[in-house]
Amino acid sequence: MKPSTLELGRMIRVELGHSKKTNELHRAKEWQIIWSHEQIRYDHKAFSLMCLFLEISAALSIEDDLHDELSDEDVTMVGLFRVLSNALVHLESSAKAKSCDPGGELLIFLGKMLIEQGVFPSREGCSFCDAQLEKLSKVYLVTDHGGFACHECIGHLEAALISSSQEGRELWELLGVVANQRYQELSEFKMEHRGAVRLLLHYFLYQFHFQEHQFKSLKMVL
Ligand SMILES: [Zn+2]
Repeated sequence: MKPSTLELGRMIRVELGHSKKTNELHRAKEWQIIWSHEQIRYDHKAFSLMCLFLEISAALSIEDDLHDELSDEDVTMVGLFRVLSNALVHLESSAKAKSCDPGGELLIFLGKMLIEQGVFPSREGCSFCDAQLEKLSKVYLVTDHGGFACHECIGHLEAALISSSQEGRELWELLGVVANQRYQELSEFKMEHRGAVRLLLHYFLYQFHFQEHQFKSLKMVL
């Protein structure tokens, strides 16, 4: 039995029939829908977000070799799949409650994906001088240094890769919430600076060498 797969946001378990090693077509012997969204398709914001989550997950995935008998034991993609399925369940409940906030949903998804991929921005202390950021009013995200920095340390840095202090501070707070709570426990964020989401998106794109135009659904979300 192959692991569950996702098709248009539905989770489907598929058992594949054996095919010739040279054959790229695989015969589905059995399939079963495990979970399916009901409300997302009635909410265009939620639907666009779902398309974006699927696009991002596909870009991060490596192609599965279905001829490899040992691929069932390969767990490298399990974490990515877990983030995606959590995101869809979260999105479905927001759509159901009619409280879908695209910025908040995207921020949670990107935050959880960055944790999963091991490139979550460091919140511990300033990336340069190690100063504790918790009590500082001015905190900046420094995209090419993988974390946040204090006001004293950003003077010599290239402006394009530094956030504003307000957005940086808010993102620092929000990412703390994302990191410390389970996906389904995260409720709507009250964001003062909407730029915090775009800031995290830029950080995400930078980490994986992605370009914004690669993700067609993005312009329908932000
Ligand atoms: Zn510093």
